[in-house]
Amino acid sequence: MTRIAAFGGPNANQYALEATLADAHARGCERAFCLGDLGGFGAGCDQIWPLLLDEQVECIAGNYDVAIGRGDPDCGCGYADERDNQFAQIIYDYTLANTSDEFAAWMHGLPLEHREQIDGVDVHMVHGSPLAINDFLWESLEDDELRMRTRASGADVLLCTHTGIPWQRRLDGMLVVNVGVIGRPANDGRRETWYAILDVDHGHARAELVRVSYDWRAQAASMRAAGLPEAFVETIETGWWTTCLEVVPPRERSRGRFHIYRESLADLSTPDSVGWADSVELPDEGRPVVALFGTEAFPARLWLYTNFHCNLACEYCVVASSPRARRRSLGLERFRELVDEATGEGFRELYITGGEPFLEPEIVAMLEFASDRLPTVVLTNAMLFTGRRRRELARLAGRDGLVIQTSLDGARASTHEAWRGDGSFDRAMDGIAYARELGLALRVAMTETPENRDEVQELRALLAERGVVGDDFAVRPLVARGFAADESTAIEVDEAVIAPELTVTADGVHWHPIGGDLDSSPDMLVAAGKVPLAQAKQLITERFLSLRQADGTLPAAFRCAV
Ligand code: SF4
Repeated sequence: MTRIAAFGGPNANQYALEATLADAHARGCERAFCLGDLGGFGAGCDQIWPLLLDEQVECIAGNYDVAIGRGDPDCGCGYADERDNQFAQIIYDYTLANTSDEFAAWMHGLPLEHREQIDGVDVHMVHGSPLAINDFLWESLEDDELRMRTRASGADVLLCTHTGIPWQRRLDGMLVVNVGVIGRPANDGRRETWYAILDVDHGHARAELVRVSYDWRAQAASMRAAGLPEAFVETIETGWWTTCLEVVPPRERSRGRFHIYRESLADLSTPDSVGWADSVELPDEGRPVVALFGTEAFPARLWLYTNFHCNLACEYCVVASSPRARRRSLGLERFRELVDEATGEGFRELYITGGEPFLEPEIVAMLEFASDRLPTVVLTNAMLFTGRRRRELARLAGRDGLVIQTSLDGARASTHEAWRGDGSFDRAMDGIAYARELGLALRVAMTETPENRDEVQELRALLAERGVVGDDFAVRPLVARGFAADESTAIEVDEAVIAPELTVTADGVHWHPIGGDLDSSPDMLVAAGKVPLAQAKQLITERFLSLRQADGTLPAAFRCAV
């Protein structure tokens, strides 16, 4: 059997190179191959050269080495985004200025690929892909896309690097291994870096991706001493990428801690938004990128559908609730689990909705549990605050952190009842009065319909008499979902035009509460079943980035007070 080590991107990190070579020796590797990008992140540009020579590392050139060898004006990494290129330029200029002429000349003489029969196996080593030195072979490439890039080789084993994140896959009999890079972490929140070991035995090959610990403190200190940007040093110290993220595909990027450039958020506000969400003030931590979750693009707000059945069957109900709707109750135990998860995952507010939540026998216990932990809003038609429920509701009297949000669709019973059914106006008004009596904070939303369009001011005045004033009253549009799917005056919404608000139902996780009904809005399902909120956040981030990439714009941060 022959065992070799292959690594990419020493990236001027002599500490990681030393540790990798020591690890490869200890594991019995007979030869070590470097697939290029000798500089390009750290400060020790020339320091890695003697190590490569002394240890007889067999090197091919990466795009960085070609550029430095020729004295090019930029690294040729292949970034398409202007901001990615700005950061790439900072470190390229430093590397070009701090690489000796002798080392640059040596790089200039490196081959662009290496191909060799090792123990009966055809092994092909490239930097990017067989098509281009700066091609990105990401793990998320579909088989067809990967095949398109690898069939030009036709080898048994293809080893590559360049992206910075390791993976391996067998495709059409070819073992494709992205060996990762050793000069910086793989955006996985760990400081260790990665290389690959290839075992070849009588025509068979298998690869193992190996994590290596090294003296990251020394590397960070050397970068700081060289005056390199703190954003780069942070990556070494935390394992998260803080620059050049636009080139990373949605799947890989959503797994990291940061997702978009802070300045991209400026494109998000839409003047038509309605709702009670305040603009999110993001602390400026001196980093060019931010995590999507917690911004206006993906608010830290969790929606929980306690159930889907309702005492009403409003003709515009976006989730098609009615007395006959499939119940889909979450139940108290699952509800509590989700609230606990939400606090751990950084959610800052909870919205509880249905169907009619007050049809759930344990709704008061749910609201107590939720509002003890996070600011909570419960959406209700306020018509069931009678009898036993009225007595139970009294337990919530004066509770801080709980808001009752209800609907009134006109200043007169006839207007309100045109869409919500006979007898619904007076009972809702009674419910509002009782909530007020209990000292609970109140909000009212009006769904704008052709019938009530001229009654907004009248309704505002009516509510003011009952203590609901200012921003506690909002008018929201009619949305073409659920029962209103074919309503000609309703607006169409889908993931491309509405910012995500993570929504959990008994069916799974959804993009937004407007699409919480799986039967009428299957397009807004993000994942079916009991999905951990951490995973749900990641899936929504990935989908957001995919939507954004499709046409180059962000989904608008249109907010709708459901
Ligand atoms: S809009 Fe609200 S009150 Fe009307 S049917 Fe739907 S869930 Fe029930």
